Amino acid sequence: MDFEKLAKTYNTPLYIYDFDKIKSNFNRLKDSFSGRKSLICYAIKANSNLSLIRHLARLGAGADCVSSGEIEKAFIAGIPKYKIIFSGVGKRDDEIELALKKDILFINIESEGELGRVEEIASKLKRIARISVRVNPDIDPKTHPYISTGLNSNKFGVDIDIAKKLYIKAKNSKSIEPVGIHFHIGSQLTELEPIKEASKKVSDLLRSLSVLDIDLKFFDVGGGLGIKYGDEKIIEPYDYAQNILDTLKGLDVTIICEPGRSIVGDAGFFLTKVLYEKRNHQKRFVIVDGAMNDLIRPSLYNAYHKTYLLGKNENKSRADIVGPVCESGDFLAKDVEISDTKHNDLIVIESTGAYGMSMSSNYNTRARAAEVAIEGGHDRLIRRREHLEDIIESEIEYLRMDDEFNAS
Ligand SMILES: *Cc1c(COP(=O)(O)O)cnc(C)c1O
Repeated sequence: MDFEKLAKTYNTPLYIYDFDKIKSNFNRLKDSFSGRKSLICYAIKANSNLSLIRHLARLGAGADCVSSGEIEKAFIAGIPKYKIIFSGVGKRDDEIELALKKDILFINIESEGELGRVEEIASKLKRIARISVRVNPDIDPKTHPYISTGLNSNKFGVDIDIAKKLYIKAKNSKSIEPVGIHFHIGSQLTELEPIKEASKKVSDLLRSLSVLDIDLKFFDVGGGLGIKYGDEKIIEPYDYAQNILDTLKGLDVTIICEPGRSIVGDAGFFLTKVLYEKRNHQKRFVIVDGAMNDLIRPSLYNAYHKTYLLGKNENKSRADIVGPVCESGDFLAKDVEISDTKHNDLIVIESTGAYGMSMSSNYNTRARAAEVAIEGGHDRLIRRREHLEDIIESEIEYLRMDDEFNAS
């Protein structure tokens, strides 16, 4: 990848996505489930650039959406309605209404209250809502400390007992059709065991529902497959698929997965330019033009991304790579071994395709970065750099009213 040329053409800070890599990531996962009916619903929240979603749509991907905005984006990008699902713990009435009017594949229900709202809205619209219940399989975090974000204590999904109750309620409703079952136990998973255990628990529930004459077509295993940021061992898509398929013997279901990070994460690069270097006592700082508003994962999760200086390798010493934002937490990388830098040197931050741009903000009134796609050796802009006008657009008209208010 010719980062120098890309910086010259598009300026920095810049997000660059390797569309060929996205394609191979997608196809590898898809192929792992071959021999079974499957649908890969890309989790749009990981990276919601329209051209990137369209790229996946062309490969046959569906979409997992967590807001009405993401549902609209999926449609605009060309994902067919029968491949779109709607997840999330807090769906508003207007969002449920949109999902029903657009006739998407199904809505993932996360609480009894939500099932009630969906039923009411579907009945008002004279439609039948296809639903799936998100089950919280409550994998004991003590036996699996690697998913210690906690499952019994988190806000997502419902207990298996409640799920059963919701399915019976759904079956008896004239406005609801239960079609699937869903779980998603976490993100950046690097161990198979909890996935296998969750899949086993949920498939047992599926079987027990079948006894009650509730036959579900879709088995939605969520997303969460981890990627290699540093030296972590990752799950191979083939092993992932096999372990899930093992729990589904004798069941005729379509498997749905909702991968985000594992499709786009390692296909993305964040390119930033050195502004200054300085030392505060012993501590060395390289100050760059990208910041936490562009890439918040280091600040938010203390996430590690491989970071390096282009074109220089000698005289390395430790430095923090920091941005211009007025927060001590504004860093992109800590304790990187890096050569002496000068103004306009380029720094690359790897594996930033997921939860990079999609978590960006305008903090410090900084315009958001541009995004570029590389495909078949060609680069093209897929989102222009923001201008000040974009940032002030929704406020500027009120200045006049403010003046009038103060004049009176
Ligand atoms: C975030 C999320 C995903 C995607 O997670 P990744 O770790 O990016 O694969 C999938 N499904 C649901 C319901 C989610 O909330």
